[in-house]
Amino acid sequence: MALNREWHRSHRMPPKATRAQRIEWHAAHARACGCRAIPEGIKPEVEKLLKGNRKR
Ligand SMILES: [Zn+2]
Repeated sequence: MALNREWHRSHRMPPKATRAQRIEWHAAHARACGCRAIPEGIKPEVEKLLKGNRKR
C-alpha cells in the first residue's frame, strides 16, 4: 500500500495523543492511506468509527 505523503503532512499525530485522538487519527488514516495497519488494541473502535461515520 502506498504512503499518502500529502495526508501525513496535514495530519500529524500529536506526541501525547489520547486514546480517542489515536482512534480518530487511525480512522482517518485508514481512509486516506495504507502505510500502517491499525493497532490491534484500538482496531474495534476504529472500525466502528469507519462504519458509523460515513457522511458524504
Ligand atoms: Zn499512512
